[in-house]
Amino acid sequence: MNSYPECPSCGSCRAVKPKLILVDKAWIDEPGIDPRLKYFTDLRADDIRPEFLRQDPFQQFVDAFYCENCSKGFIPESMLTPDPDHRRDLYR
Ligand SMILES: [Zn+2]
Repeated sequence: MNSYPECPSCGSCRAVKPKLILVDKAWIDEPGIDPRLKYFTDLRADDIRPEFLRQDPFQQFVDAFYCENCSKGFIPESMLTPDPDHRRDLYR
């Protein structure tokens, strides 16, 4: 069964493939940067549910997904720890 999540950027799951992605340690707000990119770049190891984390020193490598339409990797919300304030811009 294909249970790949929808891409948060284009909303389609057709081009989504599993991918090992590297999460960032922090997001730095800078003028001129598309704020939507924050969704793809502000995830940190402690945003992800422990059952999806690897052991140190590989916690920044996450078995996540990649959208070939958008050429972007992403981590579905189901893999993230609940934190509505931190991710208030998700899926708006
Ligand atoms: Zn996409």
